[in-house]
Amino acid sequence: MLAAMKKMLLQAQEGHYAVPSPDFWDSVSARAFVKAAERCGSPVILSYAPIHREILSLEEAAEIGRFYAGRVDVSVALHLDHGTDLELVKRAVSLGFTSVMIDASALPFEENVRISREVVDYAHPLGIDVEAEIGHVGSEDEAGPHSVSESSYTEPDAARRFTELTGVDALAVSIGTSHGAYKNGTPHINFDILKKIRESTDVPLVLHGGSGTGDENLRKCAEMGVCKINIYTDYISAALKKTYSDPQSSWPGVMKQAEETIMGVHEHYDRLLRGLLS
Ligand SMILES: [Zn+2]
Repeated sequence: MLAAMKKMLLQAQEGHYAVPSPDFWDSVSARAFVKAAERCGSPVILSYAPIHREILSLEEAAEIGRFYAGRVDVSVALHLDHGTDLELVKRAVSLGFTSVMIDASALPFEENVRISREVVDYAHPLGIDVEAEIGHVGSEDEAGPHSVSESSYTEPDAARRFTELTGVDALAVSIGTSHGAYKNGTPHINFDILKKIRESTDVPLVLHGGSGTGDENLRKCAEMGVCKINIYTDYISAALKKTYSDPQSSWPGVMKQAEETIMGVHEHYDRLLRGLLS
């Protein structure tokens, strides 16, 4: 069923686990994420990033997301990932998205506050939850869903001021991850900064760039107060690898295999982020 993201995140915060937030790019991936969540009996934050608009429009994503979310008993938030401006947020909300991210993290602090506050003022009266980002999670990898940019760590005091000034429901922080694939193994996560950010604000924290971060790092992030973890590249990498290692003779066969592979990756992450893997 379609559900609000904030409630999921507050429950996760209390239970010291994190909810996976995968980006879907077509109906096969959306169905795979929702079916896997149902199989796990866990909520999922089904996310759409506008960077995928050339293969899936916002309108298509809204229809597909609502279709699958409405057919399962587990909670599914339909989330706009990396919203670029208020106009896009308004379009997403009008189409039925239940939460939005506004990402002005590349802009100076005051501008980020102003734009994020504007989105909160619009969204909250409509019952829509808002995620924003402070510090900047960049990208090392042009093949990923984001353009290449440098990361900059979130300052704990800025995180506190940002949440107070904007009233956001979830805060994406930068603690060492980046979008896409990593060139040099698993990243170094700054757990000291995460601890200080956690102590500086009660707002549920979000980690972008979860792919390739390593199970141990992700589990520790979840234990230390990260409630939502964004993952994308690990799903497409696994599906692509399977396509090459076990070639299918038909396109529907490739699609089916991709769906099963994506479901397997999702079940792994769901269990990991809930602390169910030994
Ligand atoms: Zn992201």
